[in-house]
Amino acid sequence: MIQVGINGYGTIGKRVADAVRAQPDMEVVGVAKTRPNFEAGTAIEKGLDLYAAIEKRKPLFAEAGIDIAGDVEELVAASDVVVDACPSGVGADNAEMYREYDTPALLQGGEDADVVDSSFNARSNYDTVEGDDLVRVVSCNTTGLSRLVAPLDEEYGIEKVRTTLVRRGGDPAQSGRGPIDDILPNPVTLPSHHGPDVNTIFPDLDIDTLGLKVPATLMHMHSVNVTLESDATVEEVRDLLEGERRMFVIPEWLGLDGAGAIKELAQDAGRPRADVWENCIWGESITVESGSSTTRAGGETASDLYLFQAIHQESDVVPENVDAIRAVLGTADRAESMATTDEAMGLDDPLAPTRRAVAADGGE
Ligand code: NAD
Repeated sequence: MIQVGINGYGTIGKRVADAVRAQPDMEVVGVAKTRPNFEAGTAIEKGLDLYAAIEKRKPLFAEAGIDIAGDVEELVAASDVVVDACPSGVGADNAEMYREYDTPALLQGGEDADVVDSSFNARSNYDTVEGDDLVRVVSCNTTGLSRLVAPLDEEYGIEKVRTTLVRRGGDPAQSGRGPIDDILPNPVTLPSHHGPDVNTIFPDLDIDTLGLKVPATLMHMHSVNVTLESDATVEEVRDLLEGERRMFVIPEWLGLDGAGAIKELAQDAGRPRADVWENCIWGESITVESGSSTTRAGGETASDLYLFQAIHQESDVVPENVDAIRAVLGTADRAESMATTDEAMGLDDPLAPTRRAVAADGGE
């Protein structure tokens, strides 16, 4: 069994801990916390050992009547791999500790790419990170874009990606974030950092991204245009994406008109924390304009693909962290790992009641 330590037990850390606990080949050694709050209570309730991330705050745990199994260094020493889910920048500060204990660590998308040996997305570059000391599981938006780019690039070749990212202002519990009543070009300059971040996974990809922030907490929304190098049809693209893991091509009859309805469906389906681990692509939005913009020498035409996809920022990186554990340690190949992860998390039967209803009704 792979022994996994979790340093930072917030939005991402607690989800990764649950996903790791569900795997047949992994165990959670414990989780490191800075303070005794409701999430410390959640960890205890789940039977997880708590480690103190900051030594001088240990008395706070004792005052709250919470037992501590040790210091974070002991957690790192006892782990085969650590998932660092600390706030942006703290992962970089922790890098030295992981190197000192010779424990490979997975940092998250809030860290700079130059802090780590490699950046990771399971679908796109699983095979490239084995043996690395520090691996960054790219951000929610970069994960969502990489999952889309990989099959399109393999099937058609990609000339250029242009994406506008309408980003949630904050997660539901981030009461200090905004905007509350505004629409912000964010950043106002182009490109937003997302394009260059996708290039950490696809170094040769031509991609431009624009970012906005809106008063929403549920999900991000991407408006995507991909100029493909060869001709495609809507049906082919739809089939291709439906055949991919971690893609939910939304059938029209479901009536999912936005992120709120998708989250409601996830709740109805009994998903933990109403998480939506898949890219949610509106099937009706998939549009292809063949040969419209580019005609090459020899008469070969390109296709312009358009679609909308919603990305659940709090959870799409969770299965990616699980795969990154196996990828770094070299304990499974990509197909095996993604299948194991998805089955254990319940991703193999995404939004199950809906799928069953579709099958029973002979629907779309
Ligand atoms: P969070 O604030 O919800 O959780 C971070 C946790 O780490 C908190 O519980 C905090 O108390 C704890 N912490 C702070 N300092 C620590 C330390 N020194 N040692 C141990 N724990 C410490 O943050 P998050 O949203 O889970 O983000 C974590 C990382 O994941 C960031 O890099 C972020 O950019 C990335 N990420 C976040 C999202 C998202 O939408 N929330 C999506 C993808 C990636």
